[in-house]
Amino acid sequence: MSDYKIETKCVQSGYRPGNGEPRQIPIVQSTTFRYDTGEDMGKLFDLEASGYFYTRLQNPTNDCVAAKICDMEGGSAAMLTSSGQAASFYSVFNIASCGDHVVASSAIYGGTYNLFAVTMKRMGIEFTFVRPDCTDEELNAAFRTNTKAVFGETVSNPSLRVLDIERFAKAAHEHGVPLIVDNTFATPVNCRPIEWGADIVIHSTTKYMDGHGAGVGGCIVDSGKFDWTRYPDRFPGLCTPDESYHGVTYTERFGLGGAYITKATAQLMRDFGSIQSPQNAFLLNLGLESLHLRVKRHCENAQRIAEFLSGHEKIAWVKYAGLPGDEDHALAQKYLPGGVCGVVSFGVKGGREAASRLMAGLKLAAIETHVADARTCCLHPATTTHRQMNDEELAAAGVSPDLIRYSCGIESADDLIADLEQALAQV
Ligand SMILES: *Cc1c(COP(=O)(O)O)cnc(C)c1O
Repeated sequence: MSDYKIETKCVQSGYRPGNGEPRQIPIVQSTTFRYDTGEDMGKLFDLEASGYFYTRLQNPTNDCVAAKICDMEGGSAAMLTSSGQAASFYSVFNIASCGDHVVASSAIYGGTYNLFAVTMKRMGIEFTFVRPDCTDEELNAAFRTNTKAVFGETVSNPSLRVLDIERFAKAAHEHGVPLIVDNTFATPVNCRPIEWGADIVIHSTTKYMDGHGAGVGGCIVDSGKFDWTRYPDRFPGLCTPDESYHGVTYTERFGLGGAYITKATAQLMRDFGSIQSPQNAFLLNLGLESLHLRVKRHCENAQRIAEFLSGHEKIAWVKYAGLPGDEDHALAQKYLPGGVCGVVSFGVKGGREAASRLMAGLKLAAIETHVADARTCCLHPATTTHRQMNDEELAAAGVSPDLIRYSCGIESADDLIADLEQALAQV
């Protein structure tokens, strides 16, 4: 990890060209890599030498970009995945199997909720969901003897709750398990969860990191700080020989800094193959270079729009932790002093009907299943991303039926406000 500030890391980390080498990260558009002898390649298969042999497991372009995000988050090792969903799945499945249990915040992305509560449940992993503002007693009561991890989002999509990372990390560590934090909405520009005790950080790089709606992708960063070897019985996959990989014991061979990511690459990427394409990794890196500039502007626009909406007579409520009256304002001041995110949620008076009239009237904000894009967009989760949830589950996830998720782009805030004004006049 370098000591540079986040702005410098966004631009420079992960790739340092040698004399006469390309200034920009080369796109290594190759599925495979050539070796002089079978023995050379055998060492790679045995994880005895590091190098590339097949892009389903690792690719040099991806590794440069993963190394940049790793440095930005202050981690010890990182990997790219084909999507944020793959990152969420791998991050948990790397340490939890059939018969295990995970504690998760109920305020998480709808796709993650479905992955956990439906698909991973079918794989035999049980999840207990706790409200992000639950009491310490409720949080501690959620743990079981077979609990393997705690999961939450720094700023939840779309409910925009702020996770008390220190409190959740403390509870996780008291029960001998790591805290996994999805830092997609905050980005390492606004918050670096590892500094607050999180052990593993994941991203949907599809959002602010790419930032231009160009490529779906994900990333997993390990802090290298969680000591798996203190609990060898709880994490046998990391602390005992992997028979599917020539008997390697990941914690012994790769240390605490490398064990988790090497296992996820050697086992999960090998078997599930959710690799990011090197082309997408290249595009992602272009996004990362300007992330610090864009996030600042996204947040400034969101703050102004949240203030405008909260003073408007046709608006029922506004959820943005940057507003002084917000239930999460104190947490935002602690964890996100430089800005929360560019997404604002609000309800229009008149509920579902009024919400769809407002959305139809907007000219600059496009209706999209997307957020965190340079272009402003909006969505009505109850009828789209969260439609698999019943009203009770919606309420637990902090999504009311009238909620509109408005993702501020980097256009002029004046123009966005004028657009909202004219659309509200039609409601
Ligand atoms: C979008 C999103 C995901 C899923 O990422 P994909 O790249 O769409 O697979 C996960 N977590 C959060 C917070 C998200 O916003």
